[in-house]
Amino acid sequence: MDFALTEEQRHIQALARRFAREVIAPAAAECDRTARFPHAIVEQARALGLVNLLLPVAYGGTGATPMALVVVAEELAWACTGIAAAILLNNLVADALTLAGTEAQRKAYGARLAEGLGAYALTAGRARLRAASQDGAAGLQRGGSGVRRCGVGAGRLAGGRGQWVSLGHARLRPLPPDGGGCRRRPGPARPRRGAGLRRGAGGLWAKVQGVGFKLAEIGMRAEAARLLTRQAAWKAAVGAPNTLEAAYAKAFAADTAMWAAVEAVQVFGAYGYSAEYPVEKLMRDAKVLQIYEGTNEIQRTIMVRELARRAGATLTNGKER
Ligand SMILES: Cc1cc2nc3c(=O)[nH]c(=O)nc-3n(C[C@H](O)[C@H](O)[C@H](O)COP(=O)(O)OP(=O)(O)OC[C@H]3O[C@@H](n4cnc5c(N)ncnc54)[C@H](O)[C@@H]3O)c2cc1C
Repeated sequence: MDFALTEEQRHIQALARRFAREVIAPAAAECDRTARFPHAIVEQARALGLVNLLLPVAYGGTGATPMALVVVAEELAWACTGIAAAILLNNLVADALTLAGTEAQRKAYGARLAEGLGAYALTAGRARLRAASQDGAAGLQRGGSGVRRCGVGAGRLAGGRGQWVSLGHARLRPLPPDGGGCRRRPGPARPRRGAGLRRGAGGLWAKVQGVGFKLAEIGMRAEAARLLTRQAAWKAAVGAPNTLEAAYAKAFAADTAMWAAVEAVQVFGAYGYSAEYPVEKLMRDAKVLQIYEGTNEIQRTIMVRELARRAGATLTNGKER
């Protein structure tokens, strides 16, 4: 397998990367907070040919390959998976039209996709997987209510003023001069009182190394997810069966995104949990990846079926025939 992107793919990757950084990223937090569908951003993306990538040129689309789609999806989702989903949703409809539509349907709905936004609904059949039609706002979620104030009534203070409770160690400690964990933002002059520094250089090293290991693990799994996804796209592009590979890619990439987001929240500690910082949004955004487009459980049932098929067996209702 050739891992290099073609010149055309590199070009559209650069285009999507610039769009993600200059247009999506600055708007992501506000869209999340207001649950506003990003119509203006979608229209800007449409003008660049990023909305209908899989729709054939004959019907007004870009006519790109599945590989171009996964490359663009990665770039856009870097800035915001919700807005990326809003931009890329038409491709699901385009795919269904291309794979299963009649010529008349392709013409009629292709033209509407070229100018507007599509929606699709799946019925589940035997797998009992259901996917309901949406208004195109997939992935956009209302911002959670973060912990905004630390004020506690005097009668509810544990240990009285000047003390703070470390739940992890279930004991009282003097409140640090900077307010400890209740401080809202780490100002530049804030004394560095991380767990590592409090316990001396050895502790700091353990913390730095621990965070480093998390980053290494995230990088390793993200790269594996990227390769699985590109393999599935490549198989689709050359017309090879890719049911198993696509299930591997979807489930692994979604699980990786969720796992990495949880790790990122952990690294940021309480700030990671607060809606005032961008990390908790990553966790909310990643969760839906395990749910839509075929839940990860359903992907695993597909894997079992495909593995059995490849092994020459047919599984019916869990029994081998
Ligand atoms: C933000 C968002 C956007 C969406 N966008 C769209 C869209 O554009 N178009 C669309 O059609 N749908 C869309 N969906 C719907 C999505 O596809 C469904 O929510 C998803 O298929 C799961 O179906 P369900 O919610 O009915 O859960 P259920 O089917 O009730 O499943 C509940 C849980 O049981 C598990 N489960 C179910 N059956 C099995 C089984 N046989 N074996 C093992 N575990 C099983 C599931 O994995 C899940 O964990 C969207 C959903 C969300 C949250």
